[in-house]
Amino acid sequence: MWRLIVLAVLLIIMYFLVRNAVRGFFQKRQDVVRAGSGGSSELVQDPVCGMFVPKEGAYFIRNADRTHFFCGESCRNIYEKKVSSA
Ligand SMILES: [Zn+2]
Repeated sequence: MWRLIVLAVLLIIMYFLVRNAVRGFFQKRQDVVRAGSGGSSELVQDPVCGMFVPKEGAYFIRNADRTHFFCGESCRNIYEKKVSSA
């Protein structure tokens, strides 16, 4: 009889551990989604291809008046050439 009770308690502990792990996983996923859709990292438009990119980690050129953000190095190079030729 005691063995059954110990087994039941172990199952309950395992159930809570698994539930917490699953909940933690989903909370982390929500944080990722939140960070991608605004929140701390703001979306900025690439003036070359028109794509919206998160400000954090984006390629950029700092001009005298403002900062331009780009989706990648290629777009930044295109913009740089355009500015230098103008
Ligand atoms: Zn681009």
